Amino acid sequence: MTTASIDRSALQARRNVWEMAQEQLDDVAKLIGLSEGIHLYLRQPKRVLEVSVPVRMDDGRIRIFTGYRVQHNMSRGPAKGGIRFHPDVTLDEVKALAMWMTWKCALVNIPFGGAKGGVICDPKAMSPQELEHLTRRFTSEISIIIGPEKDIPAPDVYTTPQIMAWIMDTFSMQKGYSIPGVVTGKPLAIGGSLGRDKATARGCLYVVDEAMKTLQLQVEGARVAIQGFGNAGMHAATLMAERGYRIVAASDSRGGVANQKGLDVRGLVAHKSETGSVVGFGGGEPMSNKDVLECDCDVLVPAALEKVITQENASKIRAKIVAEAANGPTLPEADRILHERGVMVLPDILANAGGVTVSYFEWVQDLQENFWEEDEINERLKRKITRAFREAYDQAKRHGVDMRTGAYAVAVDRVAEATKLRGLYP
Ligand code: NAD
Repeated sequence: MTTASIDRSALQARRNVWEMAQEQLDDVAKLIGLSEGIHLYLRQPKRVLEVSVPVRMDDGRIRIFTGYRVQHNMSRGPAKGGIRFHPDVTLDEVKALAMWMTWKCALVNIPFGGAKGGVICDPKAMSPQELEHLTRRFTSEISIIIGPEKDIPAPDVYTTPQIMAWIMDTFSMQKGYSIPGVVTGKPLAIGGSLGRDKATARGCLYVVDEAMKTLQLQVEGARVAIQGFGNAGMHAATLMAERGYRIVAASDSRGGVANQKGLDVRGLVAHKSETGSVVGFGGGEPMSNKDVLECDCDVLVPAALEKVITQENASKIRAKIVAEAANGPTLPEADRILHERGVMVLPDILANAGGVTVSYFEWVQDLQENFWEEDEINERLKRKITRAFREAYDQAKRHGVDMRTGAYAVAVDRVAEATKLRGLYP
């Protein structure tokens, strides 16, 4: 590696994710001729809450954690977005993720605005009891702005259905009665929805299927590499393998494993649940996280964290389709390189919108106290996500731009219309 390339990757790693989100909006604002006032309005979050979260740890000491809840836009309905527990959470990251939620909800045309939350913590180093205390106190601190009609959290990186159950219980205890609609991604026993656990991955599968059809590629045996083996990545591997795709590489935070003949996904899932990682799985060769991105495959699914596809590695990506199960994995510079090279990038706001779509179904079921069958949920999801793909693709063709810009054109236009119709208060 030359000094220049080291400097460049260091620079890209520091690339501010909030500026990146704003830049994506600026590009589309020009394209669709957004008025200056609405553009400036949409460039900033509506509301930002920072909270201190004191927690008594198992050894009796008190630790103070910092948490955030950001509501980007609520013109189309209550805000919606996950909560992330991770040591690298920053306010700028939460702001970017909240803005992306606004576009995502608008793209799949569900009546929600965008929000996101995060707590700076290392959940892997905390006991279940410490995690419960952290979750309950954080919920209590943000309870002034959340609620089924205001802002509805959900799972994200390192937050689980159990954590959603604690959020639901804490909020309900404060109000004095059960309020399942305050959070989605809950366990089934307390008002969760069938199909929610696999919804992000299932939506990703439907979108990749549409892209394969559009590019006239054959699904059977198409090679898929997946970075990140959690809720999004692991279920994507399972569902895609069932559909006939061949999973040739998979990784998590500790490293990866690869086999061009195809990994035994069921065995890999069992290995991950026994050992906590895909590393050491016998059915393939070890592969680094970096190499998973650049490996020989037809479809690449980044399903971990942001900013992994950069100016450095974009020219080395061999996939024909990149399906962003993760939020924000591709830097704008890398987007341009991939577009020029003819790689179809299915943007996060489309490729991982299955999660929020079934979260919307969960919220509707909670409010109606009437629960649907899983087939019906998957069918409704397929209709919504396939329509979103077509609308984004049509805009991309019409303007001669990539799929991200096409998807943004649809979404930003919808949010702008709602914002304009409602007018400026007072
Ligand atoms: P998760 O906590 O279930 O899984 C995260 C996975 O990423 C784990 O396997 C972890 O080991 C891996 N990982 C962490 N750091 C890594 C690194 N540096 N390199 C490689 N792998 C790494 O989280 P999740 O819910 O699957 O979320 C993953 C991504 O999908 C995030 O970007 C999230 O915002 C996005 N997403 C999730 C949902 C959802 O419903 N869960 C919905 C939409 C988008």
